[in-house]
Amino acid sequence: MQNDFKLTSHNNIWFGYFPGFQQVGFLTACSCRFHGESDVVPGTLNLALHVGDNPKKVLRNRQKFAAAIGVNAERFTTCAQVHGSNVQVITENLIGSGALSFADTIPETDALITVLADVPLLLFYADCVPVLLADPETGAIGLAHAGWRGTAAQIAKKTVQAMAEVFGIKPQNLLAAIGPSIGACCYEVDDVVREKMRGYETCFIEKCDGKYWLDLWQVNRLQLLEAGVVPANVSTAGVCTNHNPELFCSYRYENGKTGRMGVCLCRKE
Ligand SMILES: [Zn+2]
Repeated sequence: MQNDFKLTSHNNIWFGYFPGFQQVGFLTACSCRFHGESDVVPGTLNLALHVGDNPKKVLRNRQKFAAAIGVNAERFTTCAQVHGSNVQVITENLIGSGALSFADTIPETDALITVLADVPLLLFYADCVPVLLADPETGAIGLAHAGWRGTAAQIAKKTVQAMAEVFGIKPQNLLAAIGPSIGACCYEVDDVVREKMRGYETCFIEKCDGKYWLDLWQVNRLQLLEAGVVPANVSTAGVCTNHNPELFCSYRYENGKTGRMGVCLCRKE
């Protein structure tokens, strides 16, 4: 399912999705930045409450995004991402955490998993790698936030393992996708990062100034394969956020002054 990623819009709200997930009943949506409202970057569809934006505008943006993709904004289930590798199981009582205020978001977590239907998991990104997982057999889903720290902490692999432990999924049945995020074309890193990713040296291209281009998509793909996911089941959007700042939020391109795109994953009833 390489490059199995499409852009679409509804009510003028644009998002990308993975058709392979949709075909078996899973909704995927990676928001674009057009047609929103924000005090951080005016006019953009910032979906995150933790970046100093006007909360009323963020909630209106979430409402628009939810309406465009066909989910209930009050059921968005979110977490406070800390570039770690904690995986949280979403049970009935946690549905809607962080949907309407940052105060009740799930703390210190970078991956959410659930087997419940109609629970739109929502994580926030601006260059970091979204990893989406869905199991057509059990209906379980998992969504992870993998920046370089989370990737070094093997969050993609840990999310698959958690889904196996908690829901009994078989990794070889999983569909996986790597969403829009910073590509090897733009992601310059130093030795500190390379040292923390031993075993993935093939994903670094050495530059003449002693720094490296890092292919985070490939590191995460390799981790998924190590966890037992089948190569043919891994889709990669292949879209670099730093290269497409008119479409997506890019922390690097905008020097940190940016909103966050949302990636939503949900099993439809
Ligand atoms: Zn790029």
